[in-house]
Amino acid sequence: QRQPLVIANWKMNGDRHLVASMAEALRESAAKHPQVDVVVCPPAVLLPAWQQAAFYDNLKLGCQDVNEHGHGAHTGEHSVALVQEAGVSVALVGHSERRQFYGDTAERIAAKVNTLQASGMTVVLCVGESAQQREQEQTFVVVAQQLHDALQHVEQCSNLVIAYEPVWAIGTGLTASPGQAQEVHAFIRNWLSDKFGPAGANLQLLYGGSVKADNAEQLFAQADIDGGLIGGASLVPEQFVAICNAAQ
Ligand code: 13P
Repeated sequence: QRQPLVIANWKMNGDRHLVASMAEALRESAAKHPQVDVVVCPPAVLLPAWQQAAFYDNLKLGCQDVNEHGHGAHTGEHSVALVQEAGVSVALVGHSERRQFYGDTAERIAAKVNTLQASGMTVVLCVGESAQQREQEQTFVVVAQQLHDALQHVEQCSNLVIAYEPVWAIGTGLTASPGQAQEVHAFIRNWLSDKFGPAGANLQLLYGGSVKADNAEQLFAQADIDGGLIGGASLVPEQFVAICNAAQ
């Protein structure tokens, strides 16, 4: 039985007030979703505020990206050690916004995965096709290639989560239908099973892309969807709490 997991990706949004109100809302609702692991990935400068905010057992802190190098002259970047010092145990890697706009090539993504695995942090690898790739029926080819490129040097899959985020569904309000999402999740689970065996087949797989309080339950009810990676709705306490409840 796989543990449900819901991750908030605040992207470049939020402030100290939202940290306080979100932490409070999550604490109050924790009894309604005791089985759900919740991870919050705020902008890095808000990590200390999250560290100070009240915690409950299933809440972890995550970061939206890390640098693949251990330290050194990398202006503007954050190392694994730095984010760990700020209380982070989970890292997003290869988000489509970083692939498109911030230089996350396949090589860099693989290097980040390797650096994070060596540190024992949990990697949430994001994959997903563009609208054009879906129209051209390339979805499975693209997703398989992204998995292959990112995981080619990975031999064991502990501390690995895969998030399927179709690019056309991110921030657009165009959620993949539960059937569309399930089909790709089943494909990913098969791929992981082929590469890693039973442990791979048992990894947590998340859906991301316009998940809201009113569509979360249907998505999370799918056989191979274990939770969600939430953007916009993770900035609204009532919405995010409702999504966590839906994963229970
Ligand atoms: P939205 O939920 O705003 O579509 O964003 C999804 C996402 O990119 C999470 O990483």
